[in-house]
Amino acid sequence: MNSSQHSSNEVPPPALHSRLPAVGTTVFTRMSMLAAQADAVNLGQGFPDFPCDRSLIDAVTGAMQADCNQYPPMSGVPALRAAIAAKIATLYGQQYGIDDITITAGATEGLTTAILCCVHPGDEVIVIEPVYDSYVPAITLAGGTAVCVQMDMRASGYTVPWAKVAAAVTSRTRLIVINTPHNPTGSILRGSDMHALSDIVRGTNILVLSDEVYEHMVYDGQRHESVCRHPELAARAFVVSSFGKTYHVTGWKVGYVAAPPALTAEFRKVHQYNVFSVNTPMQHGIASYMDDPQPYLQLPAFYQRKRDLFRAGLAASRFELLPADGTYFQCVRYEKISTQTEAAFAEWLTSEIKVAAIPVSAFYRHGIESGIVRFCFAKQDATLALALARLATL
Ligand code: PMP
Ligand code: GLN
Repeated sequence: MNSSQHSSNEVPPPALHSRLPAVGTTVFTRMSMLAAQADAVNLGQGFPDFPCDRSLIDAVTGAMQADCNQYPPMSGVPALRAAIAAKIATLYGQQYGIDDITITAGATEGLTTAILCCVHPGDEVIVIEPVYDSYVPAITLAGGTAVCVQMDMRASGYTVPWAKVAAAVTSRTRLIVINTPHNPTGSILRGSDMHALSDIVRGTNILVLSDEVYEHMVYDGQRHESVCRHPELAARAFVVSSFGKTYHVTGWKVGYVAAPPALTAEFRKVHQYNVFSVNTPMQHGIASYMDDPQPYLQLPAFYQRKRDLFRAGLAASRFELLPADGTYFQCVRYEKISTQTEAAFAEWLTSEIKVAAIPVSAFYRHGIESGIVRFCFAKQDATLALALARLATL
């Protein structure tokens, strides 16, 4: 056999020095696979198990039929950017021009692009733990160092300890990443949090990256405290959101980033050589669907009912419910049920009780154990009922 006949199994590729040596397959993928193997109800990975609005599909297919199938502008379809700017102005009072908004391949690309465009080797980025899984790898890819500040956990829920955030600031701090409503804890930031953050960054060169993908899932009449409500913060912020969450289409991967012109200019330099542009018919379809604000204005009531149904179903179990002010996640403490680690408990729940959950320890760099797992309640009532029937036995 000459060398050209070797199969790829016999000739290893040249050695690769991993840029992300600590990274494996995400906890969401692993738990979804385990749920499928175990034939469990999947309350792990966050996605709805019900369809999106038919008229949204009609709007997108209409755009395809109308031959809107070639590259859109690199920054996104103007009608969609205009609709987003109008929504932000109406809801949060911040005036962005359509040139301050970029359509991204989901929030994930928006977050990574924002980090890549402003973080240099040696820079520090403050993140709040528990932290969504994509932030730290993106910081690592940029050559930056993630500085983790852990949330405080009290009976009233998770809160951000701003004094610790302030203490973590150094001359190398380039960016602070926040997420409200917060995955996985379901906590929300309030006006006082935004004022504390403003106090920390005022007079510094620190930028803010605000992940607001759950902006339309805030409950009990509370308001979403967008960075866009705070001009002082918005002036130094990338604000990220995702249609996947708002319109029940997580698989479409369309999101956006709003930022002032100087930040948007740098953002687009990275965006244009990463994805260049995001698929055209979805953008046209979403733009026309946004004419009606009701779908996102009604989302809090829609999900609050599911949250309450899920919480009521667990009330008689030995799970202890943590507050759930926002997102479509409910965290529960399980210390009265088991002494297992969170990962072991989530796996046991999946394979034995047939309900998948996500261990919150997966959102800590050093796997801190709090005896808490996360359930996703973005499910049909029948799915929730089946899960609750199983969980209520515990
Ligand atoms: N940020 C947070 C906090 C999320 O929970 C998610 C998705 N679950 C994302 C970003 C990514 O959103 P997208 O699917 O639009 O990339
Ligand atoms: N963000 C979703 C969650 O928290 C999952 C997204 C993913 O699978 N990457 O469950």
